Amino acid sequence: MCGIYGMVNGHPVARDLVRGLGRLEYRGYDSAGVALMTEGRIARRRVAGRVAGLDESLDAMPLPGSLGIAHTRWATHGGPSEDNAHPHVAGRVAVVHNGIVENHAALRRELEGRGRVFHSETDSEVIAHLLDEALGAGSSPREALQGTCERLDGSFALGVLIEGHERLLAARRGSPLVVGAMHGGAVLASDALALADDAEGLLALEDGEVAELGRGGIEVFDADGLRVDRELAPMEADEVAERGDFDSFMAKEMHEQPEALRRALAHLGCRGIRWDAVDEVVFASCGTSRYASEVGAAWLRELAGLPARVVIASEFRYAPGPWSAAGPGRTLAVFVSQSGETADTLAAL
Ligand code: GLU
Repeated sequence: MCGIYGMVNGHPVARDLVRGLGRLEYRGYDSAGVALMTEGRIARRRVAGRVAGLDESLDAMPLPGSLGIAHTRWATHGGPSEDNAHPHVAGRVAVVHNGIVENHAALRRELEGRGRVFHSETDSEVIAHLLDEALGAGSSPREALQGTCERLDGSFALGVLIEGHERLLAARRGSPLVVGAMHGGAVLASDALALADDAEGLLALEDGEVAELGRGGIEVFDADGLRVDRELAPMEADEVAERGDFDSFMAKEMHEQPEALRRALAHLGCRGIRWDAVDEVVFASCGTSRYASEVGAAWLRELAGLPARVVIASEFRYAPGPWSAAGPGRTLAVFVSQSGETADTLAAL
């Protein structure tokens, strides 16, 4: 998971991009970067480490430009370094990517075979090269993006900048991406919360959709390239997280636990589970969610007397094995993800 932010407007946007990234830093913070269209050319600044470092670098040496994309990374492929930080650039194209390109190795071999030179260890860089190749072959920016998305296996949310094109492009499959209209332009981000200060109306892109964002507004196209009419909606009040009187969001979340549990139980329909048909409970999760699952499994064993265990979703995904000696249909599987986006947990599900 990582954070993507993009903006097009009539004024210089570098500071807005960094401010937007700051709100997305919960999604990843091993490196950060921006790319801006400066006098028709792509100018890029990247740092290893947190968004504050990028802010300092832009303070010391500002980047002009009223069209830009930005990224705060949580590395999946390639270590956390400046070279691996997004945006990735190939020829006329700069790309920010959230997700995993599963077939990146095959695509990289293919692209290298055609003389393309890579500058990072990431899975994401193949996207920039595929786009640049398609543009070189005469495709329009949107056709190039649609064609590139078709070549990718896995999940992605993308923000794209193309030299000579005065609009931002966005696309998604599996990873979240929200676009919004603002006074004088448009914005995009990995989550609606990050747009709270900027967007007047927004919409969440559907899987397979491509959007073009310009100073005149937003156009959305489906996977077949047909224009779709999507209404921008004002932000829902509950999408705007307020810290209230609490010192931190963490303290607030801790105090919300009783209510959050009540709501979760009411919505999950746990009462509909036929416990007499359950011989075993298996949790699949990663990271902090795995610790939460261990607690859940221990309670089920101790309080309910039910066999319960935890599998790491990222391992299960590649080696599922038999789940239960009790046979199919008698194992209750529970998938836990705090963000709801953990790719390995979703794949296990
Ligand atoms: N897979 C990409 C990388 O490792 C994106 C990671 C992310 O979503 O943070 O650079």
